[in-house]
Amino acid sequence: MVWVADRDLGLAKLKENVLVIGGGPAGTASAMNLLREGFQPIIVEQESFPRFHIGESLTTECVDALNRLGLDSQLRELAAPRKQGVRIFSKNPENSFFVGAGDAWQVERSGFDKMMLDQALERGAKHLCGRATSLCRDGTGWQVTVRTDEGERILATRFVVDGSGQQRFSQKRGLFGEAVEGDYARQISFFSQFEGVTRGESDAHDTLIFHRQRHEWIWMIPLSDTLSSIGLVVPVEDYKKSGLGMEAFLEQSISCFSEPLKQRAHAIKRVGDVRAASNYSFSIDEYCRDGLFCVGDSHRFIDPIFSFGVQFAVVEAEYVAKAISACAQQQHEGWQPIHDHYMQVTSQAQDVIQDLLSYFWAYPWGFANMAHQRYPEEFLEIFAGRIYEVEPGPGLTRLRETMA
Ligand SMILES: Cc1cc2nc3c(=O)[nH]c(=O)nc-3n(C[C@H](O)[C@H](O)[C@H](O)COP(=O)(O)OP(=O)(O)OC[C@H]3O[C@@H](n4cnc5c(N)ncnc54)[C@H](O)[C@@H]3O)c2cc1C
Repeated sequence: MVWVADRDLGLAKLKENVLVIGGGPAGTASAMNLLREGFQPIIVEQESFPRFHIGESLTTECVDALNRLGLDSQLRELAAPRKQGVRIFSKNPENSFFVGAGDAWQVERSGFDKMMLDQALERGAKHLCGRATSLCRDGTGWQVTVRTDEGERILATRFVVDGSGQQRFSQKRGLFGEAVEGDYARQISFFSQFEGVTRGESDAHDTLIFHRQRHEWIWMIPLSDTLSSIGLVVPVEDYKKSGLGMEAFLEQSISCFSEPLKQRAHAIKRVGDVRAASNYSFSIDEYCRDGLFCVGDSHRFIDPIFSFGVQFAVVEAEYVAKAISACAQQQHEGWQPIHDHYMQVTSQAQDVIQDLLSYFWAYPWGFANMAHQRYPEEFLEIFAGRIYEVEPGPGLTRLRETMA
């Protein structure tokens, strides 16, 4: 067992260390924001990058948060398709609609996540390749154990950012309350990459969502001129009843899902493995304490349908860096209001999307009508991700009243 003194990681003495668990978008964006606040982030990541990750469609606010980090040119270099918006195809054509995305991107996550990690390191974050295995209170700070190829390392720090994603590192170690199942916890998703999608000029770069029965939908996201990500999401019971393997289930579902999908998918060829994700919808009520902050999927994930996951990760990263900076200027006794503010602002934004989705599945026609006819500007803003510290508009208020 080795005690990691500052010099082992070559850290600057004057800057306070912050341990960041996870090198996904939550961890790397937190690290880049923390560097700006004058901290020394140490990112612990267990996987070598590039590695596959699902979640390729970014919102406008997500891209704005990345641009605020000065990542505009890196995003352009990924040569990802520029996303114009989201097209939603219902089985009834009159419920189908388009919401513009402003300035957004579709990205292959392997390249995007690697770019984010490289940028964080280039700007001064330190990288510890290994798996965080324990986290416990140590006097007024935290003690984190990391298993690396060279053995175990123990780090002491006042501040920890948990960006461990669905692995929920700190919640699973009993540092927060129980995880509550989300509304979409009984869903399963199968996805892969395909070539040969037939796309119109007008929707070539958009995220296409096809929905059928309640909670049954398929995404189609362009990743390049030739490659698309296609994924199916259904209640897990539908899959069990089918008796099919996951490849056959995905391919059969795509082939007969709906007419608008058939028009685009009749000539597709799968070029990647079929992967699955399930049990991803959950939340934990309290997700920061004593200088330990959860960011991104590590505290809540609602559902992927409108592509907000990476946005939550990178915008929460801005708030967490400010919160840690505020804590560092106070005695420990003064931290609670800062923790509360972080949780309040980030939860309120996630609640907007939670309510939007509940309404979408309960009233698909009403949703299309609100988004397209009654409150198009407000819905445009919500779909763009402008959901932080804004008063609910008349459309959201109406939708919430209907659902109450
Ligand atoms: C089916 C599906 C489709 C989706 N589609 C979209 C989409 O189109 N657009 C969108 O924005 N979002 C989408 N998402 C959500 C998106 O993938 C996530 O919200 C996003 O990746 C969250 O980022 P994160 O950094 O919090 O977690 P992650 O990206 O999962 O990163 C967590 C990192 O932490 C590391 N880690 C975990 N535990 C440890 C440990 N103990 N020690 C060291 N390292 C550790 C992991 O290896 C990983 O690299 C989708 C999700 C699903 C399930």
